[in-house]
Amino acid sequence: MSIGNKKALQCVLIGMIELKLNKKIKMPAIFVGHGSPMTADVDNAYNEAWRKFAKKLPKPKAIIVISAHWNIKDVAVSDLEKPKQIYDFYGFPDKLYKLKYPVAGSFELAEKVRKILAPIVDVKINNEWGIDHGGWIPLLSFFPEADVPVVQLSLDYSKSTQEHYDIGKALAPLREEGIMIIGSGDIVHNLREIEYEEDAKPFDWAVEFEQKVLTLIAKNDHKSLIDVENLDNKSYLSVPTIEHYLPLLYVLATKDKDDEVEYFAKGITHGSISMTSFVLK
Ligand code: ZN
Repeated sequence: MSIGNKKALQCVLIGMIELKLNKKIKMPAIFVGHGSPMTADVDNAYNEAWRKFAKKLPKPKAIIVISAHWNIKDVAVSDLEKPKQIYDFYGFPDKLYKLKYPVAGSFELAEKVRKILAPIVDVKINNEWGIDHGGWIPLLSFFPEADVPVVQLSLDYSKSTQEHYDIGKALAPLREEGIMIIGSGDIVHNLREIEYEEDAKPFDWAVEFEQKVLTLIAKNDHKSLIDVENLDNKSYLSVPTIEHYLPLLYVLATKDKDDEVEYFAKGITHGSISMTSFVLK
């Protein structure tokens, strides 16, 4: 074989290896139904399911969290080296307010997010918020060492469900760069109808709505999921306000044809709060 041919063959082989490696580093995207802040308690069955699931997770370079709990009139990211941990819940046992998740932020990832979203939206820097309980409670189980930098992305309440989905889609290539995308909300979230007991029988409308959502996820029918108001004649009960549903759209928007959906928690607590969670990988 001539030196020229040898070089060409080497290039092809190295290219194949790189392709394989690239495929390997594609990070899963996760939708987590975070439920009540009590899920932070390690004695909670869902917390146990999260910790079990976490054992199978690869370690990303950094994480983008889209939490139901940061709603502002901007698409924004935090870029502080040490983002604040927000205890945005009231009247819960003291032990929850003592939980610490001292994770680093990432200026680099915040800039990456701003750049990748620039063609569709001007992403602001906003350090008034930080990592709220929609972010840090699942992360305590997923990455308990708090050793993966986290950037939280806000939900802009002036955007349509289609626009939220489009933002998620634009973020998708970051998965190929070792960035994990986590959407944290609840498929069904109705605090007005909530039952006191965690194991109360789920309302029929909640079960039916969630089942429809899971069927549409299985069919890859994202169009119907975006049109959530018309998804079911009782959508208004399961999704009385949109913020807990939106993180689901962000995660689904990152799905590509090779991704499989694997559920790692399923169920409805307090009659009207879904804990159903899945990973795309
Ligand atoms: Zn919540």
